[in-house]
Amino acid sequence: MSEKAEKSPVVVAGAGPTGMTAALALRARGVPTTIVEADSEDRNRDGTRAIYVHGSTLRTLERIDPGLGKRLVERGLVWPTRRTLWRGEEVFSRTYDDPGGSGDIPHFTSLPQTDTETFLRDALEENGVEIQWDSAVERVESGPDGVRLETAGGDVWETEYLVGADGAGSTVRNEIGVDFRGSQSENSFVIVDVEETPENPLPNERVFHYEHPGVGGRNVLVVPFTGGWRVDIQCKESDDPDRLCSEEVLGEMIARILGERYRSRVSWVSEYKFKQVTANSFVDDHRRVLLAGEAAHLFAPYGARGMNSGVADADEAASAIAVANRAETEPVARAEVELYAARRQKAAEFNKDAAGQALKHLRDDSIVTRTKKAAAAKLADYWEDAGEWLDDAPYGPHGSPPITSIGQY
Ligand SMILES: Cc1cc2nc3c(=O)[nH]c(=O)nc-3n(C[C@H](O)[C@H](O)[C@H](O)COP(=O)(O)OP(=O)(O)OC[C@H]3O[C@@H](n4cnc5c(N)ncnc54)[C@H](O)[C@@H]3O)c2cc1C
Repeated sequence: MSEKAEKSPVVVAGAGPTGMTAALALRARGVPTTIVEADSEDRNRDGTRAIYVHGSTLRTLERIDPGLGKRLVERGLVWPTRRTLWRGEEVFSRTYDDPGGSGDIPHFTSLPQTDTETFLRDALEENGVEIQWDSAVERVESGPDGVRLETAGGDVWETEYLVGADGAGSTVRNEIGVDFRGSQSENSFVIVDVEETPENPLPNERVFHYEHPGVGGRNVLVVPFTGGWRVDIQCKESDDPDRLCSEEVLGEMIARILGERYRSRVSWVSEYKFKQVTANSFVDDHRRVLLAGEAAHLFAPYGARGMNSGVADADEAASAIAVANRAETEPVARAEVELYAARRQKAAEFNKDAAGQALKHLRDDSIVTRTKKAAAAKLADYWEDAGEWLDDAPYGPHGSPPITSIGQY
C-alpha cells in the first residue's frame, strides 16, 4: 500500500463512535468502506464519557445493523427515578412505572461509551468492514474528482469521498481549511466514574444537587450507568481543579456524595472546561470531504448531545455519500453533500445553543438567576412545576434540531 495508491470508494478517518457508525451506515447502503485510525488495535480508551444514549441513536444503530441497538439496550440500564435537591433538601422527585416506554427500544439507555464502542467494533468485524490501525491521517488533498490522503506511515489512499470523523483535534478539518468558532466554559468541571458496590448498590436514580452542602456548595450531578456512577462536580471559579482531583480530596467528596463505601471506588477522573464550538463549514470546497461528530462540533455534555449527534451526523453523511456516489451528474452529487452540510450544521447550532442554555443555567451567578432558582426551590413544596423546572433546566431544552433543506422555503 505504501508503494501505490489504494483505490477505495469511501474512507472514514477515525474509529470513534462517529467513524464506526459512518462505516456501518455506508455498508448498510451498499457502499464499500475502510476506516483509517491513528491508534493501535490494542488501545485503551479511558473513561466512560458518553453514557446517555438517546432512543433515536439506538433506533439508528438498529436500522443500520439489525440487532446492534438492542445489544446496547440489553447492556445498558434505564433509571426509573429523577430527583433534585436544593442545598441538601429534596425539591423534586418522580418515579416512572415504565421509564423506558413500551417498545423494544427504550427512550434512552445508560452504559459506558467503551461498551458502545465494543459493540460497534464487533458489528464492523461481523460485517467485514476493516479498520486500518496505526494509520493517522496526515495530509488531505481534495479535488473535483475525489480525495487523496496520506497517513503518517506514508500510506496513500485515493477515494471518492472522505468522512472526517477524527475527533476534536481533527487533522482532516485542519487540512481542508475549516475552523471552529464558539466559546469555552469559564468554570471547570470534575468528571468522575465510580464503581458500583454490587453487594449493596444504591437505587438507580439520576440526582441533581444544587449547592451540595457536603462539598462546599458546589453543584453535583449523579447519573447511574451499567456498573457504576458518573459524578459531575461543577468547580467554583476560585477552585484549583487539580487539588479537587487529588485522591484525598476527591475520595472525601465522593464519600459525602455517594456514601462512605464509595470513597475508594473511583475508576476514572478528569477535569474539563467545555467548549461550545461548531465548524464554519461541514464540507470542503469540492464537496468531497464531510466532517462528522467532534471533528465538526463540540458541546458541553449537559443534555448528552455529543456522541448522540455524532451518530446522527454519521448516518446522514452515509446517506448523502450513497446517493452522490450513484449520481449521474456532478451537480446532483454536490447538492447531496451540500444538503448534508446544511442539515447537520443547523443541527449542530441547535445542539450548541441547547447545551449552552444548560451551561448558562448552571454557571450564571447573576442576582436574577440566583433569585429565580432560590424562589423555585422555596415554591417547590407547594407547586410541582417549580421543582420540575429546577430538575429539567440543567439539561437544556427538550426537542430535536429542525429539519433543514437547501431550498429557499
Ligand atoms: C466527560 C464527558 C461526558 C460525555 N457524556 C456524553 C453523553 O452522556 N452523551 C453523549 O452523547 N456524548 C457525551 N460526551 C461526548 C462524547 O464522548 C463524544 O461526543 C464522542 O466521543 C465523539 O465521538 P467521535 O467519534 O466524534 O470522536 P472521538 O471519540 O474523539 O473519536 C475520534 C477517533 O479518531 C481518531 N483519530 C484522531 N486523529 C486521527 C487522525 N489524524 N487520523 C485517523 N484517526 C484519528 C482517534 O484516535 C479516535 O479513535 C461526553 C464527553 C465527555 C468528555
